[in-house]
Amino acid sequence: MKFYSTKGKNQRISFKEAVIKSLPQDNGLYFPEIIPVLGDPFFSEYGSYTLPEIGTSVMKHFCSDDIPLDKLEEIMEDVLSFDIPLVSVAKNINSLELFHGPTYAFKDVGARFLARCLGYFNESENKEVTILVATSGDTGGAVAAGFYKVPGVKVIILYPTGKVSELQEKQLTTLGENITALEVDGDFDDCQALVKLAFLDKEINEKLALSSANSINIARWLPQSIYYYQAVRKAQGDGNVVVSVPSGNYGNITAGMLAKKMGLPIHRFIAASNANDIVPRYIRNGSYEILPTIATLSNAMDVSNPSNFPRMMELYGDDWNAVKNDVKGYTLDDEHTLRTMQQCQSDHKYTLDPHGAIGYEALNKTLLDREVGVFLETAHPCKFIPTVEKALNTEYKIPDFAADLMSRRKQADPLGKQFSSFKNYLMA
Ligand SMILES: *Cc1c(COP(=O)(O)O)cnc(C)c1O
Repeated sequence: MKFYSTKGKNQRISFKEAVIKSLPQDNGLYFPEIIPVLGDPFFSEYGSYTLPEIGTSVMKHFCSDDIPLDKLEEIMEDVLSFDIPLVSVAKNINSLELFHGPTYAFKDVGARFLARCLGYFNESENKEVTILVATSGDTGGAVAAGFYKVPGVKVIILYPTGKVSELQEKQLTTLGENITALEVDGDFDDCQALVKLAFLDKEINEKLALSSANSINIARWLPQSIYYYQAVRKAQGDGNVVVSVPSGNYGNITAGMLAKKMGLPIHRFIAASNANDIVPRYIRNGSYEILPTIATLSNAMDVSNPSNFPRMMELYGDDWNAVKNDVKGYTLDDEHTLRTMQQCQSDHKYTLDPHGAIGYEALNKTLLDREVGVFLETAHPCKFIPTVEKALNTEYKIPDFAADLMSRRKQADPLGKQFSSFKNYLMA
């Protein structure tokens, strides 16, 4: 399997090259040249597979040229060493809990897969790789944990100052060793722009072997499709499966769309969004209009120009009508997010985090007859304690696993949002 850039299909490169390079020089995104279709026996048997078996069966189509099957199996066992349970919350509404990994948000799977791929590819190299990653909250922690002490890899995390939760900040600033955090005086889009510019800068690339751990990297993007196989096979209820995905940078939902193209029976998607609702607006009126980023309670989705949008368009053949047929948008503001968290707690005794709340409410409000809804619960509520306490109007006891982290000391270097400061930092 080869990969091309969404901006030019002439050059095709291997999985390994696409993972290491992360971003094509033409500023597009890597995309698989063919989308494999999984027929039988996969679909008649996958109900009884383990998660790592599903992971291997799906991912081998993309990376078997560069990773032998037994190595891929080993990587998948290691990456998916925790459960992804589906919990029935209300009639025909299920929560796929993606927060049982080491940093309590869904990004662990992609970050761990990427770390293990790069670790494997790097065994035969002697140049240190520098991973740049911009985070709106959860990516940084997942990448930090995934790459912590991986030999030959240095990680630099850029995060927007004051715009991530305390627990998120601790996850990305307290490890030390090969992990460095830069606290950027700007928002997530500024952080993302700095990373993109670094990739396009000739001098930086001559000095450092750069790689990105954002969902622009295919090794982070592709394995997220595993969640959707789990969602469909476990969904409880009778009817067509609708998956509601709290979305920001659109890596997760586009991985679901890929799974659908590979044959997984998903009836439709909901792009559940906070006030930063560029994609729901696009779905409504066909125009992609970038507005300034708004800070919300679901901070991991505070993205005004989602970097995976070109992948979505590639999957739907650049056709607005095709997107519209398959995906509905849903937007929820902060006030209604809080109300949803409170309602779900009192009606169903289920504690939502502010991101999952938007996915839940989209189903609650728009699910049709003969549809079964699954929303992706993308983070553990303990990552957003002040919001949970405000919504539920009661004290939320911090779980023991998080309490230890909160007591650790933050280490981060401040950085302005001008590219020149970032470049100086990297060239120093
Ligand atoms: C990253 C994140 C999202 C958004 O996912 P995308 O793939 O960027 O659309 C949603 N919820 C949480 C908790 C996240 O960490």
